[in-house]
Amino acid sequence: MWFFTEEERELKKVCSDFAQKELAPYAEEFDQKEDFNLQAFKRMGELGVLGITADPEYGGAGLGATASTIVMEEFGKACASSTLSYLAHSILCVNNIQNNASAEQKEKYLPKLITGEHIGCMGMSEPEYGSDAVGIQTKARKNGDHYLINGTKMWITNAQYSDIAYIYTRTGEERKNLSTFIVEKGTEGFSVGKPIHKMGMRASPTGELVFENAKVPMGNRVGEEGDSIYHMMKNLEIERITIAGISLGIAQACVDQCLKYSNERRQFGKSIGNYQLIQKMLAEMATETEMMRAFLYNVAKEYDQGKKGPVQAAMVKLALPKMATKIALDAIQLHGGYGYSREFPLERMMRDNKLNEIGAGTNEVMIMIIAKNLLSQQLD
Ligand SMILES: Cc1cc2nc3c(=O)[nH]c(=O)nc-3n(C[C@H](O)[C@H](O)[C@H](O)COP(=O)(O)OP(=O)(O)OC[C@H]3O[C@@H](n4cnc5c(N)ncnc54)[C@H](O)[C@@H]3O)c2cc1C
Repeated sequence: MWFFTEEERELKKVCSDFAQKELAPYAEEFDQKEDFNLQAFKRMGELGVLGITADPEYGGAGLGATASTIVMEEFGKACASSTLSYLAHSILCVNNIQNNASAEQKEKYLPKLITGEHIGCMGMSEPEYGSDAVGIQTKARKNGDHYLINGTKMWITNAQYSDIAYIYTRTGEERKNLSTFIVEKGTEGFSVGKPIHKMGMRASPTGELVFENAKVPMGNRVGEEGDSIYHMMKNLEIERITIAGISLGIAQACVDQCLKYSNERRQFGKSIGNYQLIQKMLAEMATETEMMRAFLYNVAKEYDQGKKGPVQAAMVKLALPKMATKIALDAIQLHGGYGYSREFPLERMMRDNKLNEIGAGTNEVMIMIIAKNLLSQQLD
């Protein structure tokens, strides 16, 4: 993008090199095995991106949404599911601790999360509460010098590999009475439930977090009791912008693969790129990808400058994943039978991208947020 700083251009190059070397060659294998590429994740720590938004005093890079989106795009081109795990760690866990935790908590938890010695996750969703996140029922109750937490978190990215879980709980009857806790692996009464098997994002582990009278020290509450709604809503903004970056990476990877194939594949004595129906697909998918890039980085940049907020985040989250699914389906079509086969990465990219229309708030929830804001009224 023309407005990227020198630092952002350098970051893009470094992340692109890393992704092509450390992620792309293994993406297919880990998808097939439904396994987490732990080694690549640890190397992200050496690369210096696991604490992309965290303060340098804790080992972070001190950057914002634009830089984080650049990482998502470059990693997303190579392996979307490793990128989803990266997002859950760096944006859902680390960024939340950076923005909401006390200095003492940051000192205790951030350095190891940033080097990759520890892995983090964030637990908001529950079996009965997904889109209605404010309705969650996992309860935290004060009991002497600690809290007792009871409930189950569902769909948690990195659950099985996490040392640290950043979780939202209910601490009062009113809907707004939500409180956040940092829960360490090994905490009495806390366990990880069964892994969840998925159509895509298969190299990103997903599981349940189970709390049965989990004994969490008072000092692990983040912020004041009952004060977490703002934290929750605020972090969803950067989550939505950055997850759209994964869709941008997928779309660009589809375009690149289609251009190559259009020149290579010959039918009726010519490469298929000679046929206007193929040219139409190529031209449209490349144009849409450029639109996605311009829209997304404009929102990310303005978000970093404090000019854009929840509505624009919802808009990019609605637009980009939808467009990337269409592009991935067109890319499969352009490849004919080979596109449908596992010989090419396109079917994986389509399966992976579909998640981005659901996670971090569904398309329908994005529409609700945008429309409510446009109409400037609270609909019940
Ligand atoms: C692979 C994966 C990884 C995830 N990672 C995490 C994670 O790390 N942490 C975490 O907390 N969560 C995570 N999630 C959960 C994710 O955020 C939820 O799945 C998502 O918010 C949707 O919630 P739900 O699945 O309960 O669907 P529901 O809320 O039950 O929605 C079902 C359908 O109803 C629609 N709907 C709901 N309400 C309305 C309404 N008012 N108007 C119109 N339509 C509506 C939805 O759009 C959807 O189509 C993950 C999910 C997946 C699949």
